[in-house]
Amino acid sequence: MVRCCACGAILDPDGTEKARPPSISGSVMGDEITETCYCVACRVYTIEVVRDRFLGEESVSYHVPVPKERGDRQVALISA
Ligand SMILES: [Zn+2]
Repeated sequence: MVRCCACGAILDPDGTEKARPPSISGSVMGDEITETCYCVACRVYTIEVVRDRFLGEESVSYHVPVPKERGDRQVALISA
């Protein structure tokens, strides 16, 4: 579950077709998982990065807001 950085709305990658938030998931590099969701209300992407039990530590996650233009490029890159 990813929350919008700007408005705090819950961004569901499997949400209604009307919202159609592009989702980039499954980008696994080591123990790092990133998920990208687009908030239609704020017109920004929110990238959630999760590091899972790195070196025995607890999972940490942080969220990064990405302007639509940059996020679109990233989506295009990955779906290309
Ligand atoms: Zn939002």
